Amino acid sequence: MSEESAEIGQVEGVGSVEHAYYERSEPLTGVVLLPGQEEHDTGEHPENIRRLPPVVKRLRESDDWEKLFVMHPRSARVEDIVRSHTGEYVESIRRASIDGPAWLDTDTKAGPGSFELALRSSGAALTAVDAVAMEAYWQPDSLFALIRPPGHHATPDRAMGFCLFNHASVAARYAQAHYPIERVAIVDWDVHHGNGIQDIHFEDPSVLYVSLHQWPLYPGTGSVDEVGAGEGKGFNVNLPMPPGSGDREYGEAFDAVVEPILEQFDPQLLIVSAGQDGHAADTLSNQMISAAGFRDMAARMAAFTDARGIGLVVLHEGGYNVSTLPQLDHAILGGLGSFPTDLEDVFAEGARPAEGWSERLAEILSVQREFWPGLGS
Ligand SMILES: [Zn+2]
Repeated sequence: MSEESAEIGQVEGVGSVEHAYYERSEPLTGVVLLPGQEEHDTGEHPENIRRLPPVVKRLRESDDWEKLFVMHPRSARVEDIVRSHTGEYVESIRRASIDGPAWLDTDTKAGPGSFELALRSSGAALTAVDAVAMEAYWQPDSLFALIRPPGHHATPDRAMGFCLFNHASVAARYAQAHYPIERVAIVDWDVHHGNGIQDIHFEDPSVLYVSLHQWPLYPGTGSVDEVGAGEGKGFNVNLPMPPGSGDREYGEAFDAVVEPILEQFDPQLLIVSAGQDGHAADTLSNQMISAAGFRDMAARMAAFTDARGIGLVVLHEGGYNVSTLPQLDHAILGGLGSFPTDLEDVFAEGARPAEGWSERLAEILSVQREFWPGLGS
């Protein structure tokens, strides 16, 4: 008897063994890939076609590839995008793609293929939502969508900061429209403030937005007192991190603010806007987060969603050092799937306590205590 048929023999009569044969001891994570990512070609630009291929190459060449749940995306439809953007804006991106290449603001470009690729990137986020939210026999606990261009700066009617469509927001509203999901939390650790997510959901109590970003830095929004408005007041949480913040400061921010607020909000789906541009070797920031720091943040989010039995969708946002990005994204998957990856990181070795952090944390806590009782006590 071959080894394969012996294995099949062992599961005969499975109906009587209470499905124990597909219980898993480790969380199942994976990736949503982005075929044709080079179709949005920005040329000489920090957000370019050279960012993602080395990430996928590293994963494919590692022993961990076999553990991963690998998916290919479908495209989002315009009706998915207009839950977060105006119809006129979506049409303007389509036109810019046809007529371009064109600069939509001082650092955001669109050309032939950009509209379709932005739809496919949002679609990858929706593919991930479907996979973690629907009841299925072999279902991932979390998925990391390796997408570009990023999305978190795109406002309802404006492209900016390399972003065309706001994938995190589109995914949140898609989940609410298609599943029995009312409350969605978005945690954004990209080093820049996600002004677009904030704008779209500023008066929306059903989507909690929590952003950790270097302050001051582009785009200039994201102060502690931007807390939401109307019914959404209290559901927009900004943590402006001082320059030089690293694993220590981010860890304390998760302990004292991010996780307690998530606990109280009690989301039914968690989306992470994962930008790795706060890494110590990223030229777009002064932050000092290490590979281990990214793993830790991912592992915390996975532990949170695992304890609640809810889905976790991680979306690639920034991260512009193409030589370190593969290690960081691999570390994030290790954190999501509880498997070890190489965390050696010479760039973060010089991290020192960030000046002004304890005062900043106290300020954040004092603002947020009005909305989230018992915080920091
Ligand atoms: Zn960024």
